[in-house]
Amino acid sequence: MSEYLMEVKNLVKHYPINGGVMMREVARVHALNGVSFKVKAGETLGIVGESGCGKSTLGKTLIRLHDHTSGEVTFQGEDFLAKKGKDLMAARREMQMIFQDPYESLNTRHTVENILTEPYDIHGIGTKEERIEWAKAALKKVGLSEQAMERFPHEFSGGQRQRIGIARAIALKPKVVICDEPVSALDVSVQSQVMNLMLDLQKEMGLTYLFIAHDLAVVKHISDRVMVMYLGNIVEFTDANSIYEKPLHPYTQALISAIPIPDPEHQGNRIILEGDIPSPINLPSGCAFHTRCRHAQDKCRMERPPLQDAPGTSGETHLVACHFAGNLPKV
Ligand code: ADP
Repeated sequence: MSEYLMEVKNLVKHYPINGGVMMREVARVHALNGVSFKVKAGETLGIVGESGCGKSTLGKTLIRLHDHTSGEVTFQGEDFLAKKGKDLMAARREMQMIFQDPYESLNTRHTVENILTEPYDIHGIGTKEERIEWAKAALKKVGLSEQAMERFPHEFSGGQRQRIGIARAIALKPKVVICDEPVSALDVSVQSQVMNLMLDLQKEMGLTYLFIAHDLAVVKHISDRVMVMYLGNIVEFTDANSIYEKPLHPYTQALISAIPIPDPEHQGNRIILEGDIPSPINLPSGCAFHTRCRHAQDKCRMERPPLQDAPGTSGETHLVACHFAGNLPKV
């Protein structure tokens, strides 16, 4: 068995845009353009990049909320994307997702009891009494009292609602939890409480997290490794320390330089990213970042750089997709 829990190979997701009288496909949103990576059991893998770079699409395609266009996902040694029927149901128990807006992801017309017992209903696990006992235990685990059982999502604060979302996600004791900006909509003071809860649960249950955030500062403290995405591609992927200490891709460098430093003496060299992200309908030629890269050369406009070992590294410890990584042309 591989040391990896999940292996993703060349995953592509294009959303068709239909138009005209016949509603034929007139264009495509190139949301994921051949993404490959491996996930280790028990790690937290941070996935960062500006809004629209394909992070949510990656999460939703991995968990099969959205169909993939092409590519492979191996989960626990098996072809996850080929699974159907009962096999798929069983595999789905092992992979859950937490969403940014718990209000949207929870059925607002259901009581917390219904919300938390539903996963057991769907999978036909336990008696009615057992399901209720497990739901109560899950509430306790996320720091809420049993009194919450009869209440509705709107009766809770944002942080409490996210705790309910987490309780639901862990109900079936999954191996992997895909966390799509789970604290972005919460007040800063509540963010750290929810993050701490997630870290405690990870330790206790041996969970593997794929943690999506648009903000590098959020993933900084919790990630073992960090993947940086730009326009549906991975541009850099390494351990959390290296990504902050020696980022090699000009895009990662710009993201890191934008993290505020709480020290007025320390000015830092902030790199301003020029222009908007190009449309994923018409991707730029060559390196998709070249239109905003201050180091771009002719080669960057013509050839797409592969994601490969950074100069001086081997064994996929630090991957980067830049023709000039480690030797950026002067600006
Ligand atoms: P992120 O999570 O990084 O903000 P998304 O994965 O949500 O990015 O979006 C990537 C691209 O795919 C965006 O251009 C977005 O508009 C587009 N997109 C996302 N979901 C859909 C959909 N259901 N139909 C069409 N386009 C979509």
